[in-house]
Amino acid sequence: KLASREFKKADSVFSVGPVKIGGNRLVVIAGPCAVESREQILECADIVASAGGVMLRGGAFKPRTSPYSFQGLGEEGLRYMKEAGERYGMPVITEIVAPHQVEIMRDYVDVFQIGARNMQNFELLKVLGAEGRPVMLKRGLSATIEEWLMAAEYLLAHGAEDIILCERGIRTFETYTRNSLDISSIPVVKKLSHLPVFVDPSHATGLRDQVIPVGLAGIVAGADGLIVEVHPDPPRAASDGPQTLYPEQFEKLLRDIEVLSPVV
Ligand code: PEP
Ligand code: MN
Repeated sequence: KLASREFKKADSVFSVGPVKIGGNRLVVIAGPCAVESREQILECADIVASAGGVMLRGGAFKPRTSPYSFQGLGEEGLRYMKEAGERYGMPVITEIVAPHQVEIMRDYVDVFQIGARNMQNFELLKVLGAEGRPVMLKRGLSATIEEWLMAAEYLLAHGAEDIILCERGIRTFETYTRNSLDISSIPVVKKLSHLPVFVDPSHATGLRDQVIPVGLAGIVAGADGLIVEVHPDPPRAASDGPQTLYPEQFEKLLRDIEVLSPVV
């Protein structure tokens, strides 16, 4: 299999603009859950870049549990995000939720994100694979490691090369946290696959006070980077406020990571 260590022994390493992914360097991707306005994403980009983050996240098409919740700004959001990324010299990553969106997204996006809810949307994986652009593939809500790697296989089989796997917690019986971070999936996947693995401690925990310890644990377990949610005013965030870091917490996270290993 294309994702396996048998197929490729060495860790996959690739660049997204100025950012090197994989191969013993830690990368921090951060930004709001959703792009809410031009001002908001510019402010977020400033927070991320000045603390040492190197890539900007933000959803424009949000897969919300309720159809009455904020669904994202769509193409307008992509436009603001691209502007913010360019202004601060950061590539941007955003989620795609349907195959036809490739057309409108390709001019704005550096890394396409496949969300947990779409990990096994095989038609989406095929279309995105054929696009040949970098993809972050989140682990599904209840996906086994085998299923997750087979989803990556779809992307590779259809032409994608630059793939980041992202552990973002799985459904368990525990209710104190939104999901349970499967910390052991990191060494397991690093052994089975050459693909870089990131951890998303924001969606894994659902609670901002747990994001720093859980994120650091992910790094110690061997993750190649983190993707985290940060916002200038988390209580007023349009989505995922309770798990979103305050700017000061984000700065602390990056200082703590620096102690473990220098961030590039
Ligand atoms: C997100 O990154 O905003 C998101 C919806 O993540 P996940 O797909 O992991 O739930
Ligand atoms: Mn979110």
